Amino acid sequence: MSQQDLLSNTVLNLQESATLKMSKMARELKAQGHDVISLSIGEPDFDTPAFINEAAKQALDEGYTHYTPVPGLLELREAVCTKLKRDNGLTFEPTNIVVSNGAKQTIYNLCQAMINPGDEVIIFTPYWVSYIEIVKLAGGVPVLVAADVDQDYKVTPAQVAAAITDKTKFILYSSPSNPTGSVYTKKELEALAQVIGPHEHVHIVSDEIYEHIVFDGVHESIAQFESVRDRTIVVNGMSKGFAMTGWRLGYMAAPKFIAAACTKIQGQVTSGATAFGQKAAATALLADPKATQDMMRTFLGRREFVIGQLKEIEGLKLSVPEGAFYIFPDCSNFFGKSYKGQVIKDSNDLAASILNNVHLALVAGAAFGAPNCMRISYAASQEQLADACNRLKEYFGSMV
Ligand code: PMP
Ligand code: GLU
Repeated sequence: MSQQDLLSNTVLNLQESATLKMSKMARELKAQGHDVISLSIGEPDFDTPAFINEAAKQALDEGYTHYTPVPGLLELREAVCTKLKRDNGLTFEPTNIVVSNGAKQTIYNLCQAMINPGDEVIIFTPYWVSYIEIVKLAGGVPVLVAADVDQDYKVTPAQVAAAITDKTKFILYSSPSNPTGSVYTKKELEALAQVIGPHEHVHIVSDEIYEHIVFDGVHESIAQFESVRDRTIVVNGMSKGFAMTGWRLGYMAAPKFIAAACTKIQGQVTSGATAFGQKAAATALLADPKATQDMMRTFLGRREFVIGQLKEIEGLKLSVPEGAFYIFPDCSNFFGKSYKGQVIKDSNDLAASILNNVHLALVAGAAFGAPNCMRISYAASQEQLADACNRLKEYFGSMV
């Protein structure tokens, strides 16, 4: 019997996370002694602010080393409610909130709690890599609604209306978006809410994990609109805005029956998130939002720099991202051209060739449902970004 025979069909049919795979490949090349720059993973390069670390240390000393209630410490769920009111004008109670091991698990819980085999989930495309696989793990059928660079990667209400069927369970998207950095405006969200509103069987999962990283305009949540308020699940987490990726803390604000269903699943799977981490997260959420604004300003400076550099590469089609820390150029003008004798057919070829030849790790757009594009994460130092842009200019300049 082969090892494959010993594994489940579930895992055999599951795609490996392309973002995590690319950052692993970059680490391996680096370990072999190559000078690799990795702009592959979406992870702030800053350390967690010291006041948050201090809160965790204090919590350890105070004995927060035991199980917490499955959906999270009441103190943290109250802090999440305070934050949602303060930043988003949304009213929730602690029984609407479930804290999990990262927003990734929050989305996993939601899919397990809501999807029956054959149910459809409308996913705005380009999408974050894990959405598709998490939906499929629950037996759901992803229905892709796509927008390209000419649409600033934002779908229209007409596209969404055309995709809704009797089988639609929910609509899933991120704004600010990973991988495009696009941010839906209040007006655009209102128009989406208007077409979704009349479909009473359709929920919305609004992933707002990049809400603190918005450069132009302000972050808006679709949950503010009356027509969809009771059917919107807001997903958020500590990883991006507070540079807390390794803490594994995310949360949802959902209708109570959905929060209870997710708590039931979590109670059988993880029992909840780390106790002292939850205490620190409460401190972070209740702090003056100014505490993280310096990081945002730094990201803005980097966006300006990288966009300026990429504009010098003739043939790249760019949409200037309004948030998150990604740029998602359309590279299709280069498909069919060659680099050092190798024909580049698509974004997978391009990502592999850039990594192997100029030792720069990016992620192929195919992983995000956008095979014409490449994702560049600019959560890296100014020196690394300058070096990376030079490598890209050299690479594309040498294509024939
Ligand atoms: N949603 C989006 C759009 C993301 O980019 C990420 C990145 N990790 C997550 C959810 C999950 O974040 P985490 O599990 O670290 O909270
Ligand atoms: N969300 C980040 C990314 O897209 C982190 C890696 C992951 O969880 O996929 O790169």
